[in-house]
Amino acid sequence: MFYFKADRIHDGYQWLEPGTVIAATGDGTIEALYPAGALPSGVAVRHFGGILCPGFVNTHCHLELSHMKGAIAEGKRLVPFLQAVMTGRNGFSDEDKAIAIQQAIASSRQNGIVAVGDIANGTDTLPYRETSGLHIHTFVESIGFTETKVEERFAWPLGVYGQFAAQHGDTTLLRQSIVPHAPYSVSESLFRLINAHEPGTLLSVHNEETAAENELYRFKEGELFDLYRTLNIDAAFFRPSGKSSLQTYLPQLPDRNPVILVHNTFMEAEDLAFLEASGREIHLCLCPNANWYIERKMPPALLFQESGIPVCLGTDSLASNHELSIWAEIGTLQQHFPELSLETLLRWGTSNGAKALQMDQEIGSLTPGKKPGIVHINSENKISRIG
Ligand SMILES: [Zn+2]
Repeated sequence: MFYFKADRIHDGYQWLEPGTVIAATGDGTIEALYPAGALPSGVAVRHFGGILCPGFVNTHCHLELSHMKGAIAEGKRLVPFLQAVMTGRNGFSDEDKAIAIQQAIASSRQNGIVAVGDIANGTDTLPYRETSGLHIHTFVESIGFTETKVEERFAWPLGVYGQFAAQHGDTTLLRQSIVPHAPYSVSESLFRLINAHEPGTLLSVHNEETAAENELYRFKEGELFDLYRTLNIDAAFFRPSGKSSLQTYLPQLPDRNPVILVHNTFMEAEDLAFLEASGREIHLCLCPNANWYIERKMPPALLFQESGIPVCLGTDSLASNHELSIWAEIGTLQQHFPELSLETLLRWGTSNGAKALQMDQEIGSLTPGKKPGIVHINSENKISRIG
């Protein structure tokens, strides 16, 4: 048994009383939390300067885009960014892609991350998932905006899903589901195929990452039409709902599917009221560094905190971030929103992410019986795993 204490311990939900001691077994399972003075005498306790907390959860990443680190300039805004990803992602060798994925996994672990919600459009990450040492929920993306050849389009994610589903983790949780990429890239029929594939499964969707998304649904105008032109899509058929994107497409997803809404950079108060009234199981995943990289904009984090809808954190891909670090995302949010306490932000980066990925039985908090990974952050912001 190992015993740890620190200047401050966050258990995934809140700060623990000063002097609390964590007892953990050699494999990292939390055995008990002892209040100050309650520990039997004669036990050797290791003290850490700085913070101890559970392993971080990166609720939204694209490990398969790791080779695009630094390839796209900052501040281009979403549509030009997506165009650059589409034209640039395949200009690399398979070996370059494989090396970048492995480096991204290694650096995620060095940054104290224990679990990832990982977007996949193909099987590039498949050979490295089982041995990654990370718990991974692979969100296989489905894309197709027009109502033509919908079954054909769905065959691709179905095939990718099948390969991931055949893989089983011995020491880590490996899961997968087919999800819509974004409302502006998925047709109504494709939504129906996704819904029918695995009823009730965990969904994730890029939501309101650009102002253009709401312009499309409200007025049938805006920058997304540039994207459709690039893709040779005739969007003339599209009929605007007059409502926000979220209020238009969310009712197309069955109530029983838990949904992770990713980004929400341009979400407004009325969308939050709509979400609360819906009674759905929703997590809002924020990727502040990626939003800053692409749009030079922060999500309205204070609005989300006040709403009571649970918030979790993601890094997005290395195409739109300099590093895969939840601690760095927390630092950015602290900088832009000094009103948000570190206690809240650590909850977003640990237990809320674990809940969002449905892994909270195993990770996300320093709760006896769980094996969350124990992370040490020293006074110089250096991160290391101690359990
Ligand atoms: Zn993304």
